Amino acid sequence: MAFDECAAGDALPDVSRQSMELTARWAARSRSRFDSLQSQGMDAGRIAVDTVSAIRGAVSGTQALFGIVQGGSDLDLRRESLSRTREIGFDGYAIGGLSVGEEKSVMWRVINHLAPEMPANQPRYLMGVGTPEDLVEAVSRGVDMFDCVLPTRNGRTGQAFTSRGKMNLKNAQWSSDTRPLDDSCECAVCKRHSRAYLRHLCMSGELLASILLSHHNLAFFLDTMRRVRQSIRSGDFTKFRREFTEGLKAYEGEKALST
Ligand SMILES: [Zn+2]
Repeated sequence: MAFDECAAGDALPDVSRQSMELTARWAARSRSRFDSLQSQGMDAGRIAVDTVSAIRGAVSGTQALFGIVQGGSDLDLRRESLSRTREIGFDGYAIGGLSVGEEKSVMWRVINHLAPEMPANQPRYLMGVGTPEDLVEAVSRGVDMFDCVLPTRNGRTGQAFTSRGKMNLKNAQWSSDTRPLDDSCECAVCKRHSRAYLRHLCMSGELLASILLSHHNLAFFLDTMRRVRQSIRSGDFTKFRREFTEGLKAYEGEKALST
């Protein structure tokens, strides 16, 4: 990633502009430094990024350089940031400065505004997002790649993401539940351990709880994206999105029934 500066969500317009200008200057410097290191053979080599699968097939250590679009919630600034980043030219393009505490509707408005202007044949990366439903929603709006702390951060606080919604393992309802976290998950934790045992680890303050829940959460996120790719390839993404989103509400429905 090129260096960037992310202005605060409630920054005044001229502060957002200065921040976007700084990001554009840093982008140009990052690009030229990256290129000079590559041409001097001081880096492990370059990935030619045509498709996401080209990244997966790349030799370990080789690199691509992404530019980052900033501009806060100001759509004109965003558009200018994207066009200046594209002018410099990068292997992929990231949308930064979202998911930093603003209303979710602001994030979708910015993505809707930017996605049609982004190169179709280069990866689009939404930084710092998000929940499983956010990932699927953002894909439907044209995003390819994500990164987020949620799988591990929530894993450390006793929360599991599953195909039926988010579970808080500290809740008493799981105390004698012998089922795995998620019946449809193939991860090592779901193969070996019950909800009741994982809850016991959480309640006892065992470090192992954080490790096992993080492992499962990462497996669930990666599996979600694998299913997204598969459904796009087979032309079933709309159906997948509907069923996936419905499934996530299962625990909420059960809670409503039991109260
Ligand atoms: Zn699992």
